[in-house]
Amino acid sequence: MRKFEDTYRHKGLRNQLVKLLSEKGITNQSVLNAIQNVPRHFFLDTAFDKIAYEDRAFPIAEGQTISQPYTVAYQTQLLQVEKSDKILEIGTGSMYQACVLAEMGAWVYTIERHKKIFDQNKLFSFKNKYLTIKCFFGDGFEGLRTFAPFDKILITAAAPFIPPKLIEQLKIGGLMVVPVDEGSSSQRMLRITKVSADAYKEESFDLFSFVPMLTGKNL
Ligand code: SAH
Repeated sequence: MRKFEDTYRHKGLRNQLVKLLSEKGITNQSVLNAIQNVPRHFFLDTAFDKIAYEDRAFPIAEGQTISQPYTVAYQTQLLQVEKSDKILEIGTGSMYQACVLAEMGAWVYTIERHKKIFDQNKLFSFKNKYLTIKCFFGDGFEGLRTFAPFDKILITAAAPFIPPKLIEQLKIGGLMVVPVDEGSSSQRMLRITKVSADAYKEESFDLFSFVPMLTGKNL
């Protein structure tokens, strides 16, 4: 089994990353604390150990990616995470984002459509630090009806549209952060607030580039 080591050098690199993120406009202190506390190099192949704290995305299994730290911080900040929030995440990937949310005190329900990635995550022993994360294999467009409603929903793949079933599974007053396709392979970050059983309000933020949110499972 892989041995996870978090050295002073790694901690120092995380310090610098947090400084960079705050210069780039991340102001929420609990988001910055979570980035400071979660060792990102644990989520990457050991080959990336030296560059794990650069502000960039990296490949994981199955042509997927671990999002750029700025993107993780940006989405987490928009989500206004509070302790004990019940959060649905679409696109587990490396589990880095899920651990950042759990580090902030949230209960995390995370769905991955790639069976290989889902199975690999079962063996990822570091996640056992966070007993508040539950992983599911499935199609994020369907959400998790049996566990709904959620305080917050976070989509970490490029959505072709706002998934209607996920709006249904959001609490009234709840927030959803979702990057929605806007042509030419970029996505507009949107924050949805569910204002009543059948209405929501939409706010627009910056453009990002995510791997696609695809329908169905991949066995
Ligand atoms: N949150 C991740 C980012 C992973 S990239 C992290 O912190 O590393 C996006 C992930 O979304 C990929 O693993 C991809 O397989 C997954 N994905 C894409 N479409 C999906 C869907 N419909 N349901 C669930 N997961 C999906």
